[in-house]
Amino acid sequence: MKLYNTLTRKKDDFTPRFEGKVSMYTCGPTVYHYAHIGNLRSYIMEDVLEKYFRYVGYDVTRVMNITDVGHLTSDGDTGDDKMLKGAKREHKSVMEIAEFYTKAFFEDCKKLSIKTPDVVMPATSCIDEFIRVIGVLVEKGYAYEAGGNVYFDISKLKKYYVFNDFKEEDLAVGVREGVEEDSNKRNKADFALWFTKSKFDDQELKWDSPWGVGYPGWHIECSCISMKNLGEYLDIHCGGIDNAFPHHTNEIAQSEAYLGHEWCNYWFHVHHLNTEGGKMSKSKGEFLTVSLLEEKGYDPLVYRFFCLQSHYRKSLVFSWENLDNAKLAYEKLAAKIAGVLDGSGEIDEEKFAELKKKFTDAMDNDLNTALAITAVYDVLKADVSNATKLALIKDFDKVLSIGLVEAAGKISAKADAEEALPEEVAALAEQRKAARKEKNFALADELRDKITALGYVITETREGTKITKK
Ligand code: AMP
Ligand code: ZN
Repeated sequence: MKLYNTLTRKKDDFTPRFEGKVSMYTCGPTVYHYAHIGNLRSYIMEDVLEKYFRYVGYDVTRVMNITDVGHLTSDGDTGDDKMLKGAKREHKSVMEIAEFYTKAFFEDCKKLSIKTPDVVMPATSCIDEFIRVIGVLVEKGYAYEAGGNVYFDISKLKKYYVFNDFKEEDLAVGVREGVEEDSNKRNKADFALWFTKSKFDDQELKWDSPWGVGYPGWHIECSCISMKNLGEYLDIHCGGIDNAFPHHTNEIAQSEAYLGHEWCNYWFHVHHLNTEGGKMSKSKGEFLTVSLLEEKGYDPLVYRFFCLQSHYRKSLVFSWENLDNAKLAYEKLAAKIAGVLDGSGEIDEEKFAELKKKFTDAMDNDLNTALAITAVYDVLKADVSNATKLALIKDFDKVLSIGLVEAAGKISAKADAEEALPEEVAALAEQRKAARKEKNFALADELRDKITALGYVITETREGTKITKK
């Protein structure tokens, strides 16, 4: 399988360090607000990657952190504490906020068919580990204390800017708006490992440490949670492209300084979901959630399908029009699949392998999910039994997880129910529909009674009105 590696800036053959096993780490959400559908684009594509690894037979262990402390509004060490901001906004404690939004995150993931990683660890549950690793970095001379905080000294490394050749002066742009000079730092790009002297006098979460009572920086948590659960070597690290610098750059710096050897071979970055006005971000406050999509009548899996229709290394523009197009395509595809649900005939093993190859070729080429979806269309067009078609679509969906067979099932159940209605009931149902549209509820109720008297039950569902025999 070829996968683009941000570290080498080319598509590399993916070969895990230990045969048959993949260790995978994902930067988890900062739980001070709902995840927006941009964040979830990253988690959807990472989920596809994980499922594809499993599909081709790897034994995967995937670990994810939950950022519930230490992430400031700028990815550098400036700005407000995101968790504190969330707590103030909602007049709750930081831990209440963390618990609420962690739960909300996993509920969204479930709706999008995103599998929960094997290990999920909140940063606040690993403070002792952070303190231990920071202690080793200080001891080895990679970290220093200044003004009460502990910083990583990037000048101690042979190469710090591993992903890009940044210049010092560009850094102000790299760490985004509102950059404040921190006079404690020896080098501009040094980053905080532990804060004691902070401007947040009301910081709720504080722990004792050899450097005083304080709290960890954001970057150290991912290095430590990864190493604690996956050991000294990591096969693949994932995240949104905005995490490449400074977050992942700092993770590499501190992990390799601590370990004394190279740490992670492959870096997988998902590009952004943008609105027409630019990057969707939580801090800007203008973001869309899965619940909002549902309120507007979209199945969350349509959003997953929308994401899969484009390549993870291209930025994707969200608009309602684009989502509507995806919805239409999804429904058409499901309707086509409804035609093969009877699974008639025998599975043709040779054709199965041939059509499956189209799917795996697409996925093996840097996770080309858009092409993998066209493999579903190819299956439907192929001159093979319905049994073969259905088996292939179910097989691909182990990776795609867009629930096409289930959606097709709903379509055919609805069609069956409608077909089975006697003419008289169907006519009354049509009249009732028209009455409801005109808001003539008295007439609609009258028609309902007539339908009921003929031995049928009316139920209103999210998919519309269902009429079934009593
Ligand atoms: P956060 O909760 O801010 O720590 O972000 C969670 C994940 O979402 C990280 O991997 C980010 O890189 C990623 N992310 C943030 N904004 C976007 C976006 N607009 N599109 C795609 N991924 C994003
Ligand atoms: Zn991280």
